[in-house]
Parts: sequence; structure tokens; C-alpha cells
Amino acid sequence: MPLPSILDVFRISIGPSSSHTLGALRSGLLFREKVSKYNLDNCRITIELCGSFALTGKGHLTDKAVVCGLNGMDVERDGERFLEIYENIVKKGYVDIYGYKIPFNPEEDIVWNKNLDNLTHPNTVRYRLTKDGNVIDEEEYRSVGGGMLDREKVKIKTESTEETFKDLCNIMDFCKKNEIDFAEFVDYLMEKRYSINRNRLDYKLLKRWTIMKRRIDGGLRKEGILPGILKLQRRAPKMFKEYLENLRSFRMLSEEVTLTSIYAIAVAEENASGALVVTAPTCGSSGVLPAVLCSIQERYHLQDEKILDALKVAGLIGMVVIKNGSIAGAEVGCQGEIGVACSMAAASVCYLMGGSIEQIEFAAEIGLEHHLGLTCDPVAGLVQIPCIERNGTAAVSALNASNLALLSRAEHQVSFDKAVETMMEIGKDMSAKYKETSLGGLAKTIKPAFHT
Ligand code: SF4
Repeated sequence: MPLPSILDVFRISIGPSSSHTLGALRSGLLFREKVSKYNLDNCRITIELCGSFALTGKGHLTDKAVVCGLNGMDVERDGERFLEIYENIVKKGYVDIYGYKIPFNPEEDIVWNKNLDNLTHPNTVRYRLTKDGNVIDEEEYRSVGGGMLDREKVKIKTESTEETFKDLCNIMDFCKKNEIDFAEFVDYLMEKRYSINRNRLDYKLLKRWTIMKRRIDGGLRKEGILPGILKLQRRAPKMFKEYLENLRSFRMLSEEVTLTSIYAIAVAEENASGALVVTAPTCGSSGVLPAVLCSIQERYHLQDEKILDALKVAGLIGMVVIKNGSIAGAEVGCQGEIGVACSMAAASVCYLMGGSIEQIEFAAEIGLEHHLGLTCDPVAGLVQIPCIERNGTAAVSALNASNLALLSRAEHQVSFDKAVETMMEIGKDMSAKYKETSLGGLAKTIKPAFHT
């Protein structure tokens, strides 16, 4: 497939998971459109959540997301009220599809099918529309990461005939030949392929950057327990307070590094609470990039315009991974989520620090290489342990990766493109236990009394 849009990397989403929450919701929206051509009197819809959707769907709010999608929820407008909207649907006992009231009871209309066999993708949902017991229509959707559905990948493929930019190496050659940097390349690509000019793109990215910063602020202030059976206490506000009170006594790490880590945890806790976030490239890893950009912006007093360019550089890394690899934990484990987030963040910091194209590529490569093999094993199917802390550690790694690249002449043996290729190979070999099923790893070691 050709390079996707940068807006496929940075989607405005509801937490906690881009594939299991946003992608699930978007599948509901699609089925809603599909069945809108029928007279829906006396109809019923069965939702079958399959594979990883069934195994970790409860903790990822997948069931609630599909139902809100069927009901036509607009993520950008109503994302903050997501759970309230769902509760309302359950209370009223029906899903509203363009005025038709389709009876809905979660116990009867949602089927949890945990079997991973015979699925073409682990994140699968099947909808069945019936009338008087007869099937009128049915459809299967697969959520392939970052909120994207498989049919959208195919759509990009068939819509574009251009195959010029096959990987980052290729893009670097193009940039050097045309004397442009990575941010300018994204401007060029978005205008040429998606007819979005720079002003319009900046407007859209500023909206996303505003949400990212709002999540840091919110996460630093909100106290209490996160949703789910782990009863996990939010830690960011307390850590931030400790940080401010003990500013001078930190011996181990610099203030910026400490603060960056706290920022990342703040966003990740907001995500875990189901707040509106921006995928970067996913919800589970949505704390890494805002944290590093915010701390660098504060330290060097950078204008938002500069940050928007850094977002473009980070976005480009995500675009290349979506094209040649995967950002779905259910496909390649956490290396595709936190690993890619670290890579994107490292590239963006390197760009802000004046790194060359080669150094930026190197920073991105370091960020990904040292997360290769990272498993996805969320405890109790919640995007909390290890996800929240992992955002904090990856944000620090991103700063370090950028630093290492800036200290070098960018001579390195493993290219970013090779790291992506390797990630895919490891992902294929990785046991399903470690790919967002909560059947192995930490999820097995720490066992709360749970499952669907
Ligand atoms: S372990 Fe990583 S990939 Fe899995 S849900 Fe958490 S953040 Fe996402």
C-alpha cells in the first residue's frame, strides 16, 4: 500500500484502545450505514466479538464502543460523553438507527467468541441483522490498528496508483534531492495525495496538539481510581506534586527527564479512564509523543508552529510503519505500539534539536530497535498494567534515542526500514499469548478474578 495520511496516525479517539475502542466504534458506524437502506421495523442486531476483541474487549470497552457506533456517535463531538451515551442506550433498551429503535440488551445481543482459530485478523467483529429470525444482512470488520479498519487499508491501495515512496530510505532520497526536510515532505505529500494544503493541515494538527496538551493538564490534576477491576490509583498528580516539592533533591535523573515521564503517565492515565485522546500511533501509547514534545516546548520556549512541524516528522515515521509494518498490539505485540511511539517521539525531538535527516532516521531506528520483541500482555485486559508506566519509560527512551543520534554522525548498520521489517518478523513468530489476548506474560502472572 502507499503511504497513508498523517491523519491516520493522529486520530482523535476515545480511550483506552485505538484498535479495540475506536476501531470497534468505527465498525459500528459502518454497519449502521450499511443497514440504513432497510426498513428496520422488528429487526434485531447481533454483535459477535471475536478473538482478541472477545479476550480483552471488556477491559478495552469494545462492547460499549460497537454499540455507540451503531447508535451513530460522533467521536470528536461526543467522545468525552462516551460511557454516558452507552449507559443511556442500555437504559432505554434500544439502539437508534436513523429513527428506527432496534431493541438492545447487552446480555442477549453481544456474543463473546474467544476462539482465535480461523480468523483472518485477531480483532474481528461480526454483525448480523435479523428480522423475525431470518438473516437480512451480515458483515465482518477487522480492526488493524490505530483505529483503522482493514477495508480502509485496501481502499488506500486501490485509490492510488503512485508507489514512489516505498520506505523511509526512499523518502530520504527524495528529500535530499529536493532540498526539503521531513516536515516539508509531509506538507508536500498531504497536498499532492490528499488535497490538504499546509494551512489546513496545520489547523487539523493544532486541534490534535491542543487535545494532547489538555490530556497532560487533566492527567496531572485528576485524582482517584481508574475504571476496572484493578482499582488502580491515578499516580500522575501525586508524582507531579512530589516532583515540584523535591525539585532540588533529584539526584538520579534530570528534571526534564523526570517531568517527561510524569507527563506521559498523566496522558496514559487519562486514556485508561476513557478520555478523548489522540492516537500516536495508538491510544495505548498516546502518552509518549505529547510528553516529549511538551517538555521540549517548555524547556526551549518553542512556538506551537514548531511543534506542528515536529508532529509531522513523528507522523511520517508512523505513516511508514503503517505502510510497511503494523501498529496493532494484536498483530505484533507492544513493539508496534510503544515501540513505534518511542520511534516517532525520538524522531520529532531530534528534528526539534536541529538533527539532520540522517540523524532523525537514526533516532527513529534506535527508538524502535530497543523495543523489538516487546510483548502485549495487559493485565485483566485493561490498558493500565503495564501500559501506563510503559508510556513513561518509552518517553525517556525517546529522549535518549534522540540524544544518541545527535551525538553521532548517524553512521549505523541497521536502518529504520530494517527495524520495521524485523518487527514484523518477530510479530509473526510471537505467540498469540503475547498479542493483546491477556493469555500470557504479566496478564497471567497477575490474575484478578476476571474475564468477560
Ligand atoms: S501492552 Fe502495549 S500494546 Fe498492549 S495494550 Fe498496553 S500499550 Fe497497548
